[in-house]
Amino acid sequence: MNRVRLVIFNAALGPLDYRVPEGMAVVPGSVVVAPLGPRQVVGIVWEAERLPASPVPDSKLRPLVDVLPVPPLRAELRRLIEWTADYYCASLASVARMVLASGGALRGPATMTEYRLTGGMPERMTPQREHAIAALEGEQATIRELSGIAGVSEGVLRGLVNQGVLEPVEVDCDRPYRRARSDYAVPELSSAQKEAAKRFIDAVAAHEFAPFLLDGVTGSGKTEVYFEAIAAALALGSQVLVLLPEIALTEAFLRRFEDRFGAVPVVWHSSLKSTERRRAWRAIAAGEAQVVVGARSALFLPYAKLGLIVVDEAHEVSFKQDDGVRYNARDVAVMRARFEQVPVILASATPALESLQMAASGTYTRIELADRFGGAQLPEIATIDLTEEKPERGRWLAPRLVEELAARLERGEQSLLFLNRRGFAPLTLCRNCGFRFKCPNCSAWLVEHRLSNRLACHHCGHETAPPAACPECGEPDCLVACGPGVERIADEVAELLPEARVAVVTSDTLNSPTKAAEFIAEAEGGAIDVIVGTQLVTKGFHFPELTLVGVVDADLGLEGGDLRAAERTYQQIAQVAGRAGRGAKPGEVYIQTRHPRASVIAALAAGDRDAFYDAETEARRHAGAPPFGRWAAIIVSSEDEAEAREAANRIGATRPNLEDVMILGPAPAPMALLRGRYRYRLLLNARRSAEVQDVIRQWLGALDFPSGVRVAVDIDPYSF
Ligand code: ADP
Ligand code: ZN
Repeated sequence: MNRVRLVIFNAALGPLDYRVPEGMAVVPGSVVVAPLGPRQVVGIVWEAERLPASPVPDSKLRPLVDVLPVPPLRAELRRLIEWTADYYCASLASVARMVLASGGALRGPATMTEYRLTGGMPERMTPQREHAIAALEGEQATIRELSGIAGVSEGVLRGLVNQGVLEPVEVDCDRPYRRARSDYAVPELSSAQKEAAKRFIDAVAAHEFAPFLLDGVTGSGKTEVYFEAIAAALALGSQVLVLLPEIALTEAFLRRFEDRFGAVPVVWHSSLKSTERRRAWRAIAAGEAQVVVGARSALFLPYAKLGLIVVDEAHEVSFKQDDGVRYNARDVAVMRARFEQVPVILASATPALESLQMAASGTYTRIELADRFGGAQLPEIATIDLTEEKPERGRWLAPRLVEELAARLERGEQSLLFLNRRGFAPLTLCRNCGFRFKCPNCSAWLVEHRLSNRLACHHCGHETAPPAACPECGEPDCLVACGPGVERIADEVAELLPEARVAVVTSDTLNSPTKAAEFIAEAEGGAIDVIVGTQLVTKGFHFPELTLVGVVDADLGLEGGDLRAAERTYQQIAQVAGRAGRGAKPGEVYIQTRHPRASVIAALAAGDRDAFYDAETEARRHAGAPPFGRWAAIIVSSEDEAEAREAANRIGATRPNLEDVMILGPAPAPMALLRGRYRYRLLLNARRSAEVQDVIRQWLGALDFPSGVRVAVDIDPYSF
């Protein structure tokens, strides 16, 4: 009797046993279809021999339905799944779900539609159509891909389809991707770059676990250097994974990669269509996808022969997943490299303190690029003390910054204003009664978005049209905007410098690959004078004419009790400053602040990174915070306030009494109401050596909760 144990998609269930029918061949890692109640589900064969005892007798086992025609998941990936579940206190099933994200897609349709030029011309020619037709010569791809290639919207292309200029072609979903060429357009490296590249190339050739911290100032050529490592891996026939923190950055990366290697990498992120997923997943599992660029979930793909992992902008907060399995992709990337026995490069101009500490202790090899490429200088940084140089009433930009903007406009150079707040104003209230617009589902104010004429919650997506009268007192036309968002700053620039061409760049305006491509083309082509943007514009972009960066409110990120507030502020401002003066002309940065003597701001102005990190290291050591101690959070939530509170109190009442773990709370979580759920939190602060996960598993494992209660564990939490 052939019994196997499956890990199934459904997180509520533990591993389940099944019978393998006569004539079906499965091994550990096989991806199979199994019956579950009345449904069929996709699962992974976890154990096939020497199964631990099970209470279910053989005769009760249901047979597997099918084996999917994909290679069995390799032992290396199964170890990663186990490690991730173990470390982050998650179930095997919930991690496996990330691996099988495309389980459904694997069984879906096997064809998809691509488009190509017919040679015909549209009845009416427009500049965009003309541009698209020229750019798509010889191309065949999906509308989405073509829109990226041509840099025009999908709407323009659909118009061309209607006109018979583009024709549909049904193709096999699993057709191969174009191959990269490693001998394409190789630039001459500087001697520092060469040295760094050599270390990586040697590590790729050795095919051993080797974690690197590529610590190079903005514009030092980190990307060029890790491209060399990618080329080396490709030459050996290995696959490469590049993790990027933001989908919006992917477009620029794809174009740059294509210039260098003559092919676009395979893209992986959550908004792929199921046919795209299927194609990518299978090509990756078959070892045919050479380079994969993705968001953090790309870490859990079934690479057949991984040879290198790169995590670009490795310090970025968005590598930390904040729901479901709460993992940190930067750390999981290092573990994956370890299981696969390959090098991993963490690239950053402002590494996380944890990464610097790993380098200092010798666990990671630190490779430094101290200078910008080609003699470009790092920008001059000055502070503007807002308590002394006050903006005019109702305005947010100090006179000195406005003068600098005007000077750039005069000279035909570009400027960038950074404010990490989407929308027009973070708070809207009634002038008559003081009523504040609040999200019904979250402890958060509604943010006014004037471009789309909405009041929106940035946590749950709740939206309403701004009402004509106050819902509280009925006063008409009473809404006042409090505080600035990027849209408001853009308005201010437009009023002060009417001839300036201003672009607002946030996740609202740059919400598709096409929009990203359009923005990059316009900014590079000099069609934008002033970019006003959120953290989205702080990294990745390379605009040679950009010579001025203004930080509208440097104090914003320092408010609140976030453990990493200072570090994050330092990173964001250093990164955005790094956008200035990347070409031939030198850059200048102005930081508006009410606390010019705060250690973060002073270190930025002095260009003294070590001073900041030294002070931060001491503060963390003193607080027992990472990397010196460990934090973990237990978050209890329910749609019912009393139920959440009771569950949290019960957890609190059964807390273990331990010498090396301090347990705080329960208390309402900082977002006490989020997406309609009331949240309480307990915090654990432990010595480095403490087995926090074991403590939590034993503690929570002994408790039962009503079905409406969710208990989430966050190991190494980011948001406090
Ligand atoms: P980083 O990733 O460190 O910010 P990049 O790799 O983006 O730096 O390099 C900054 C700019 O300098 C890019 O435009 C890049 O093409 C250019 N550059 C870097 N190194 C070289 C090189 N060896 N030869 C030519 N151009 C280079
Ligand atoms: Zn909300």
